[in-house]
Amino acid sequence: MIARMLRAIFAVLSIASTVQAQQSDPPLPVSEIAPGVYVHFGAVELMTRSNEGGIANIGFIIGNDAVAAIDTGGSVREGRRLLQAIRSRTDRPVRYVINTHGHPDHVFGNAAFGSYAATFVGHKNLPQALATRGPFYLESFRRLIGDELMAEVRLIEPTVLVDNEMTLDLGGRTLTLKAWPTAHSDSDLTVLDGTTGTLFGGDLVFSGHIPIIDGSLRRWLTMLDPLAALPARQVVPGHGPIGAWPGALDDERRYLQTLSADVRTSVSRGAPLKSATETAGAAEKSRWQLFDDYNARNATAAYSEIEWE
Ligand SMILES: [Zn+2]
Repeated sequence: MIARMLRAIFAVLSIASTVQAQQSDPPLPVSEIAPGVYVHFGAVELMTRSNEGGIANIGFIIGNDAVAAIDTGGSVREGRRLLQAIRSRTDRPVRYVINTHGHPDHVFGNAAFGSYAATFVGHKNLPQALATRGPFYLESFRRLIGDELMAEVRLIEPTVLVDNEMTLDLGGRTLTLKAWPTAHSDSDLTVLDGTTGTLFGGDLVFSGHIPIIDGSLRRWLTMLDPLAALPARQVVPGHGPIGAWPGALDDERRYLQTLSADVRTSVSRGAPLKSATETAGAAEKSRWQLFDDYNARNATAAYSEIEWE
């Protein structure tokens, strides 16, 4: 009897403390970069315990009838804080949660919206990408951001899949979603707000933060022209500050071209992978944040792709 009472009290207390923790999560700081378009700028860092995985740019767009969230951050806590930021600006329903691709810093916050009747939207390849990589992400990111933050993370697959192009109506405002062939990753999706000409580029667009190749360098290079042709005025990159469109692509284009040319030279000279990764892209070192964290990995990806051409 006493044990049962204690269990009941404990249950009430633990529910109360969870609710309190959730209520005390402050709204994420966001900037209104165009009317009704809000962005939270992630830290230009790797995911760590101290930044709580909050390294990606995430945001939301408010229409007359509904809201769309674009990416949910690197933890459920960040997703909840994004939801708080939305709630502090509008009581319209969050009808869509759009994921620009399957990397942890963009999708780990999805569960914050899971009980919210939002429809999850993504590239047609995203379910497969999450199924393939998900278990690895859930395991390996414990080491980086800690068990406590990871305990809540659930990988939520999109139920609305974008094959080529799709529009979403938020009421007086239309978003055009475009699914891209494998470039930065195999599930890249861009979101263009027709009302303000604001493009959420996901990780097809990096600014200041060195680009990360998890798909195909060659395809990414061929995708830059059609990407630049999108009728946008400004871009929210997946990482780094916003910029004018399409000029914001120039640095990324130069980096990817340089890396490709350098690796190609190494391969044609028969240089081994190790020396290629040490020299490729070296001229770009001073121009990017996190260069030492990702450049060798990018060069490795480029090398294996170019080697087999
Ligand atoms: Zn990212």
